[in-house]
Amino acid sequence: MFKLSQIKELAHEVGFDLCGVAHYRKFEDDRAFLEGWIERGYASSLDYLKRNIECRADANLLVEGAKSVIVCAVAYKNSVSEGYPADHSAKVASYACTTDYHTTIKQMLFDLCKRLKGVNPAFSARCFVDSAPIFEKRYAVEAGLGWIGRQSLLVTPQFGSFVLLGEVVMTAECDEYDKPLETVGCGECRRCVDACPNSAVKERHIDTSRCISCATIERRGEGESCDLHGWIFGCDECQTVCPYNRKAPHFTNPRFAPLFNPVERTPDREEFKDTPMMRRFRS
Ligand code: SF4
Ligand code: SF4
Repeated sequence: MFKLSQIKELAHEVGFDLCGVAHYRKFEDDRAFLEGWIERGYASSLDYLKRNIECRADANLLVEGAKSVIVCAVAYKNSVSEGYPADHSAKVASYACTTDYHTTIKQMLFDLCKRLKGVNPAFSARCFVDSAPIFEKRYAVEAGLGWIGRQSLLVTPQFGSFVLLGEVVMTAECDEYDKPLETVGCGECRRCVDACPNSAVKERHIDTSRCISCATIERRGEGESCDLHGWIFGCDECQTVCPYNRKAPHFTNPRFAPLFNPVERTPDREEFKDTPMMRRFRS
C-alpha cells in the first residue's frame, strides 16, 4: 500500500505540476456517452476513437487487478498560448512548439514508477500518455485535478486547460484517495463555444468533423475538410479565450520550453523535428 502524500511528493520531484490518485472504477456512463456520440457521427473519420471502447471504460482490461490510477499533469502555457495577431497565417498550437509530450511525459512517468518501485519492490503498473485507450480526462476529474470544460478538455483551477496528462494504472492500493472537486467549474461562461471559428464546440463535446485541431493533426477521410482559419497544426482558439487559461502561469518545467516561436516565423523541419508536428509527417 502506498501513501497518497508520498505519491504526490514523488510526482512533483519528477517534474509534474499536479498529481491526484483515483480509485479504479468502471465508467459505464462515459462508455454510453461515447457510443452515442459516435452514433451521432461526431467522431467523423477518427476511427481510433471507435476502437477499444471497452478498455477505455475499464482499466482492468488494460492492467489486470488494477486498483488505483495516478493522474499526473504538467503545465505548458507559453507565449504562443496567449494568441496570434489577427492576420497571422501559419498558426501552430502552443503545445506543439515543445518537445513531443508523448516522449517527455512517458520518461517522467517511468521515472515516477522507478521511484515507486524503490518504495515498494512489488509495485506493478502500466503508464499511459494519450495514445492508449483510457478515459484519461475522466480519471483526472475523479482524481480531483479539475473538471471537463465546455470545450471537452480538462480544466484545472491552477493551470486552466493548458496541461498535458499522463497516467499510471497500478495494482497497489493507496491509504486514501482524492475526490472530484466540488466548488469550481465553467459556471455561465461560454467563451470557448463562442470563440470556435467553426462552431465545433458543443456542450462538453466536440464535433470532430468541424474541428481544426482534428483536421490538421489526424489523417482524414476523403472529401472531409473544414476551414482552417490560418492554422497549420492544431488550434488553440477555444483555449486562449478561457478565463482560467488567461490567468494561468506559464510553464515552469524546462522540458516544456518552446523550441521555436511561430508568431515570429514559420518553423522549418529541423526546428520541429522533435515536436508533436513530426508525428503528422510520419503517419
Ligand atoms: S480546437 Fe479550434 S476548431 Fe477545434 S473546437 Fe477548439 S476552437 Fe474549435
Ligand atoms: S472558456 Fe468558459 S466555458 Fe469554456 S472551458 Fe473555459 S471556463 Fe469553461
